Amino acid sequence: MNVNLELTDHCNIRCVMCSQSTRDEAHGVPEKFMDFPTWRSALLGLVGLPDVHLCPHWLGEPTLHPEFETFVEYAFAINARNRIFRNFKLHTNAVILAPERARRLLRLARTPDLAPDTFQAIHFSIDAFGVEAYRQVKGADHRDRVFRNVERFLTLRGAQPWPVAHIAFVVQPGNHEEVLHFVEHWRERLEAQRRPYRVTGDWPGFDQDAIYLRRLNTGDQGRADRQHAEALRRAGIVPEARREGSF
Ligand code: SF4
Repeated sequence: MNVNLELTDHCNIRCVMCSQSTRDEAHGVPEKFMDFPTWRSALLGLVGLPDVHLCPHWLGEPTLHPEFETFVEYAFAINARNRIFRNFKLHTNAVILAPERARRLLRLARTPDLAPDTFQAIHFSIDAFGVEAYRQVKGADHRDRVFRNVERFLTLRGAQPWPVAHIAFVVQPGNHEEVLHFVEHWRERLEAQRRPYRVTGDWPGFDQDAIYLRRLNTGDQGRADRQHAEALRRAGIVPEARREGSF
């Protein structure tokens, strides 16, 4: 069972493809941060539910929460023998991922008394290769910082098996010509880690790292799918049919 507990609906960037960035009030109310009693009672309410896959995100950037570390540390601390959640997935734009935070997350993934793959995946929403495309697609000037943060995270993770990393790129008008450069750049980084990875145009699963070239979800889906397929072909990647579980 997938459970999304949204730590915040704030975001620090404005991706053009994201509904969060097109509204001042993502849920029709002023933007907020979840308080600790709500987090605690939501987690405790999951006890006894089967096979919970927890993600502290829906809209917004979870690492922006001023008590992000406290909340996540608490969740892992009360999850002995996976009594609350079986897996944990973090989605982030990696704008705020200092070395100390990266080390902390990696330490949580090694929490004793939990299944080894409990902290299963970290999804890096990057979506551009060049500075200009990043500015256009993400609405911010953080390209170099994000690349540095993700590269450092991969280095710090070293041979630690979990979490797997998804290096994600939603193919769209502002970036479709950059797919090859994006893939080459991250191939080199992942190969330096000497661990298995796949390059995929559809849902990559959680068994290994992935460079995930996602389709844009849009009103004109046929056009977005054609652009996605053409961009992948230009980069020498065979587009695949959309799989179940893809998002
Ligand atoms: S980083 Fe995530 S939440 Fe923020 S605007 Fe981009 S897609 Fe939306």
